[in-house]
Amino acid sequence: MTGMQLPEFVQRDVELASRTTLALPGKATFWAEISNVDQLRQVVGSSALRRFVLGSGSNLVFSGDFDGLLLHMAIGGRELIGEDDDAWYVRAGAGENWHQLVSWTLEQGWPGLENLALIPGTVGAAPIQNIGAYGLEVADRFLSLEALDMPSGRLLRLDRTACRFAYRDSVFKQQGWHLDACRVITRVTFRLPKAWQPLTAYTDLAAELDRQQTTHPTAQEIAAAVIAVRRRKLPDPTVVPNAGSFFHNPLVDGVVAERLRWTHPDLPCYPQPDGRVKLAAGWLIEHSGWKGRDLGCVGMYEKQALVLVNRGGAQGAEVIALARAVQADVRARFGVELTPEPVIL
Ligand code: NAP
Repeated sequence: MTGMQLPEFVQRDVELASRTTLALPGKATFWAEISNVDQLRQVVGSSALRRFVLGSGSNLVFSGDFDGLLLHMAIGGRELIGEDDDAWYVRAGAGENWHQLVSWTLEQGWPGLENLALIPGTVGAAPIQNIGAYGLEVADRFLSLEALDMPSGRLLRLDRTACRFAYRDSVFKQQGWHLDACRVITRVTFRLPKAWQPLTAYTDLAAELDRQQTTHPTAQEIAAAVIAVRRRKLPDPTVVPNAGSFFHNPLVDGVVAERLRWTHPDLPCYPQPDGRVKLAAGWLIEHSGWKGRDLGCVGMYEKQALVLVNRGGAQGAEVIALARAVQADVRARFGVELTPEPVIL
C-alpha cells in the first residue's frame, strides 16, 4: 500500500533480471521511466515509498525483490552549450549512455574523455562515484551538474567544489543522496580543455599503443586502445553477466603498505598525495586464490579477478556470499578490508 496516488506512468511488479548487468532475479513493486524533470517532480508526492534511481544497472546488486519505487533515469539530450578560447562545454542528460557520449564528443573533435571510453553506465551515474580509468576521472572534466532536490522540488546547480569529488567518491555517496534518491542528477556539464594532452602512462594502455605502433596518439586512437584493453580483460555483460569491478581499490596507511611489501614484494603499490597508498584489489583477490574460482552460480572472473560474474541462474544471496568469502580471505591473508563498489539493495 502506498497510501497516496502514484502518477499513471508508474508501473507495478516489474521484473528486474533484465534491468541490471548482473542479471539477478527480483521484482520491483513500482517502476517509473523518467524522461524529464516534470515526471520526477510528480513522483515527489510518493515520497513515503523507498526510492532508488537506476541508470543502466551496471553497478547494482539486487539481493532480492525491491519493495519500493525504482526511478529509471532516461533523461536524454547532449549538446555543445558553449566554447571559449580555453575549452568546449558539453551538456548531457543523465540518462544518456556514457560511452556514447564519449564517442560523440570525439567524433565532434572535442578530445578529453577518451580514457573513459567503454565504461558502462549512464551520464548521471558518472559523477556519483566519480568514474575513472587509465589516469583520468570524471572530476578532471567536470564543470557542473543539475540535480532535483526531491523534498523541495527545486533544481540545484552543483559545481566541482560542491560535488566533493574524491577517488571513486562524491558528495552523493558521502551524504547518501543517491541511496534514498534525495537529490537526483538530471544533467551534467563537462569542460573539455582545448589544450589537450594525451594521458598514456598506464601500463596496459601504453602497451596497447605500443602494440599498435602509435607513438603520438590522437584522442581517437587512445579511445580505441582503451576499448581494446577493456574488451580483452573484461567480460561483455550481455554474454557473461557482471557488474564490472566488484571491490574498490583499498587505500591503506603508508606504514601498512610498507609492512605488506616486506612479505609480498610483488604487491603493486601506488602512493597517493595524502600519504596513503592505493593497492590493486584485483591483485589481492588473485593472490587469495579467487581468480577464476566459483561459489555456487557466481565466481571471480578468470581474466580479471576483480570482476564478479554470474555463471548463470545466480541469486542475489549467492553474490553476497561470494563477496563475503572473498573479503574474509583477503582480510585473513593481507589484513586489508575490501569494500564492494556496486550499490547493494
Ligand atoms: P589495472 O590497469 O590492472 O590497474 C590495477 C590498479 O592499479 C588500478 O585500479 C589502478 O588505479 C592502479 N594503477 C595501475 N597503473 C597505475 C599507475 N600508473 N598509476 C596509478 N595507479 C595505477 O586496472 P583494471 O582493473 O584493469 O582497470 C583499468 C582501469 O579502469 C583502472 O584505471 C580502473 O580504476 C578503471 N576502472 C574504473 C571503474 C570505475 O570507475 N568504477 C571500474 C572498473 C575499472 P586506478 O583505479 O586509480 O586507475
